[in-house]
This record gives sequence, C-alpha cells and structure tokens, in this order.
Amino acid sequence: MKLTGRIVTPKDPDYNEARTNINTNIPFYPKIIVFCQCTTDVVNALLWAKENCIPFRIRSGRHSYENFSLLNDGLVIDISEMNRIHVDTMESIASIEAGAELGDVYKKLWKHGQTIPAGTVANVGLVGLTLGGGIGYLTRVFGLTCDNLLEAEVVLASGKVVTTNKHNHRDLFWALQGGGGGNFGIVTNLTFQTHSIHNVSIFSIEWAWEDFECAYDTWQNWAPYTDCRLTSSIEMKANRTIIAQGQLVGSKEELLKLIQPLVKACKPCSIKIKNTSFINATRFFDDPAENEPAPFKRSGSFVQEPFPQEALSLMKRLLEKAPSENCAIWQQSLCGKAGCIEPEDTAFFYRDSIIAQEYNATWSCHHERRQNIRWVESVRKSLGRYTNGDYVNWPDLFIQNWQTTYYGDNYKRLQEIKAKYDPDNIFRFPQSIMPSTTL
Ligand SMILES: Cc1cc2nc3c(=O)[nH]c(=O)nc-3n(C[C@H](O)[C@H](O)[C@H](O)COP(=O)(O)OP(=O)(O)OC[C@H]3O[C@@H](n4cnc5c(N)ncnc54)[C@H](O)[C@@H]3O)c2cc1C
Repeated sequence: MKLTGRIVTPKDPDYNEARTNINTNIPFYPKIIVFCQCTTDVVNALLWAKENCIPFRIRSGRHSYENFSLLNDGLVIDISEMNRIHVDTMESIASIEAGAELGDVYKKLWKHGQTIPAGTVANVGLVGLTLGGGIGYLTRVFGLTCDNLLEAEVVLASGKVVTTNKHNHRDLFWALQGGGGGNFGIVTNLTFQTHSIHNVSIFSIEWAWEDFECAYDTWQNWAPYTDCRLTSSIEMKANRTIIAQGQLVGSKEELLKLIQPLVKACKPCSIKIKNTSFINATRFFDDPAENEPAPFKRSGSFVQEPFPQEALSLMKRLLEKAPSENCAIWQQSLCGKAGCIEPEDTAFFYRDSIIAQEYNATWSCHHERRQNIRWVESVRKSLGRYTNGDYVNWPDLFIQNWQTTYYGDNYKRLQEIKAKYDPDNIFRFPQSIMPSTTL
C-alpha cells in the first residue's frame, strides 16, 4: 500500500504552515501530512496507516479547539483539498466535498440563491461543524447544520467506502448527526437539503456596562422565544462591552418590531439595523481575527432555562476579574427548528436547550497563557450549576465526564454504533467514543 495525494513532511518548506491549526496553544509535529485529492487517496492513507501501525488523525478545517485533528509523530489525513461543491437548484440539494470551508460554501450556494444553516467564521470546516451539530444565525429558522444533512460518503475503518443516509447504514447516519468528528470514519462528501435565501435583516445593539444585568436578562428572556426566523447572540466582554446581534429572514420593518424588547431595555447606547443580501450578512457576522491562527482556550455549554439573578451577577464579576480584555462570554439563542427534533432522533442530544454559550480567552504573550486558561476553567466551573450539557464541537480536555455532558442519554447508542463500524477503535483521540464491549 502506498500513500497518494500531496505529501508534506518536516523536510518540506511548507511543513510549518501545513502542521499549524487555528489554535496554536499546543503545537503538534506530525511525521507526515497527506493532503488527499480524492476518496482513493483517503482509502490509501487509512490502509497505509493500518498496515504500518502508524497512529493517525483526520483533519479538514483545522478548527478543533483541542487540536484533535493533529498529533505528534503520526500521519494527518487531511481532506481540505477535496472541496468541490455542486448545487442542484431544481432539487434544492448541494453535494459538497468534505474539505470545503463555510465561507466557500456560502458563496457558492449564494450564486444559486440557496444556503444551508451553518456557522459564522469563514474558514471553519463544514465537515467538523456538521458532525458535531452546527449552530449559527439560521439555526432557529432552518435547524442545525446536521439536521439538513441528507447523505454522507464515509471511508470506514475497514477501508470500505459507504454511502449513508436515512435508508442505508441508518445507524451510522444517525451517529453522524451530532456524534462529533473523528469517531466513526473519514467523511469524504456531504449532501445537504438547501434553502432559498435572498435578503435578510440584521441588527446590532450595544449597552453600557452598568446595564449588564438588565440587558442580559432582557435578551435571555426574549431571544429563544421570539419569532423563529430570528436567531441572535449576545457577547459580554472583559473590555466592558455588551453587544447583541442577530439576523431575521424577513424585512427590516418586521425586525424593528421584533427587537422592541431589546430597544426598550435600559437605553442602548447604539442601535444599528439594516436589510442586506444574505451573503453580506455572512460577512458581517464573520470576524477576520478569528480566521487567523492564535493561541486560545475556549469552552462552552448549553443552557436549559434563563439564568437567575445570582448567575447574572456572577458572570459580570467573572468578566470584571478576567486576565485580559479579550476574555468573553458569548451566547447564541437556540429553540425554533433546532428544538423541534427529539433528543433521540439524532445524536445531537441537547434539543431542549434555549442557549449555547461559549467562554473564550486568547493571548499574545506566552506568560499570559496560564492565567487565561485558568480563567476559562473558572468560568466553566462557576457557571456549571446553571448549565445542562456541553457542546461536542467546543471540546475541552478539562471536562472529565464528557461522555455524558456531550452526549447525554445518546452515549450508549453511540458506543454500540462505534463497536459495529470501528470495533478495533482505530479512529481515536483523547475524547473519542469508545466501542461498547457488549456486542
Ligand atoms: C474560530 C471558530 C469559530 C467557530 N464557529 C462555530 C460556529 O459558528 N458554529 C459551530 O457550531 N461551531 C463553531 N466552531 C466549532 C467548530 O464547529 C468545530 O471546531 C469543528 O469541529 C471544526 O471542524 P473543522 O473541520 O474546521 O476542524 P478539524 O480540526 O479539521 O476537525 C475537527 C474534528 O473533526 C474531525 N474531522 C475532520 N475532518 C473529518 C472528516 N473528513 N471526517 C470525519 N471526521 C473529521 C477531526 O478529526 C476532529 O476531531 C468554531 C470554532 C472556531 C475555532
């Protein structure tokens, strides 16, 4: 068996670029990175690694928080150069090679007046995002990214290539809808149901720090329950800013009416609202800084009911004590279409959550690293009593009982599916699903 595709090793001038993920917190030095160009390259890479007993990881968009797509000394099977997108406008279907990035997916589908609900940052990999769920500013109107998945091509542990959907390998398809990347096989192609999209209306509202409790409380009691066509977020930063932003698939007039509770709450210091093309809105929500490699620590969780007053004060205190100005708590509203599916219908368990919340810290000097990591951990622990689970797409090595917090009651079934498709556990990383031993 031979490795095929574009091969990069430590001797090559582009090795450093090739081995670097978006999170540079802990550097990794793989022995070989193979940039696959087609499914045969993927099969060859997998069989080569097995034959030579070389540990390997799968990589696409490079955005794993904990760099589960990298390893030292082994082989990285990289899919990012398999990124063709084909849109069937008549059937409202898009067939997308697994290496495509979100920004390219949005742009290509936009040319056909179509889209899929996905995340915000342009160079996040579609495949990693989909396999763990996928939340963004269309979640409440069209559901999670994984809810719009119709089919996937997967290279199994045996090297066999299968197509999985609601009819073929149904159990595997269920697991791919929220079970998390890297667990069941190497996904090479994804087929989605697409949605027509034209103009949308977006808003941005800012409050003064003194209005923290009032602004946040108004947002949390409004955002998950308002019109399903409207998905919004709120970001509270250590630099003492509070900004809510959101997108309505509807007119500016409708949006203005819908955001009245926010506008009336505690006198915002800035309100911006406009109607724009959907593709412009994706650019508005994308943060160029987040597309660049940098060291960071992030974690996040799901919230099932609005926070009580004491939690609001706690969040404010945690932010005021943060080690750097960039530290932030970011939340996005859920419910709507994402909440209309039962927890056991897909591997994505936390369907009854109202909010997904993220804690993040980034730093520029190495000596700031430890205090920033500690801060994220202290926020996760302090707010833990108000949250009901964690998001597998925001993995955190500090989470001890991740099997339950990522997957809830679905973990047992995921283990059974893992045992069926990867009994020898060749697809593994620090928080990968273990095959059940009862098969
Ligand atoms: C800046 C930033 C912004 C983000 N924004 C959002 C957001 O808006 N919404 C949201 O829901 N999430 C968001 N995320 C989280 C994101 O969904 C996850 O990090 C996701 O796993 C990234 O996938 P990737 O392909 O880019 O990453 P990678 O690091 O390449 O892979 C992530 C995981 O998937 C596995 N994997 C990669 N390719 C394949 C494949 N072809 N087949 C099987 N497994 C594979 C890897 O082994 C790894 O375990 C964001 C993350 C970052 C860092």
